[in-house]
Amino acid sequence: MSSDSETSLPAPKIELTPQEWRTRLTPQEYAVLRDAATERAFTGEYTDTETAGVYECRACGAELFRSAEKFHSHCGWPSFFDPAESDAVLLRADDTLGMRRVEVLCATCHSHLGHVFEGEGYPTPTDKRYCINSIALRLHPSDNATRGEDG
Ligand SMILES: [Zn+2]
Repeated sequence: MSSDSETSLPAPKIELTPQEWRTRLTPQEYAVLRDAATERAFTGEYTDTETAGVYECRACGAELFRSAEKFHSHCGWPSFFDPAESDAVLLRADDTLGMRRVEVLCATCHSHLGHVFEGEGYPTPTDKRYCINSIALRLHPSDNATRGEDG
């Protein structure tokens, strides 16, 4: 009857078995999205990306972040100061590794995305840093960005 880690997250809209996730995701994607691993700093494909567009959940395709909320944190992972919609992500206390952190989950499929930190002094409107694994995201460049005729 020990349920101190019980959380009251709303049920995911997309719920698959671990086996089903494994058929959809690469082993590397699965390790981060479903097992809450962290990709090595400065190795992700979107760390310094400035392309305009929308970042979707790589597991389920839900819109999570926009390039307009991305900023250079120099921490080694893509960083956003706000999600695209406040209900696009869920936050959950994470006490692993002997520290209190706040885990960021996709609200639609409950996949692990990264962690959020606040009060670090970044010059952003929220002073929050959503530190997200590149491999948890997929960037869809916006149409305007690919036109580029008259600037
Ligand atoms: Zn998702």
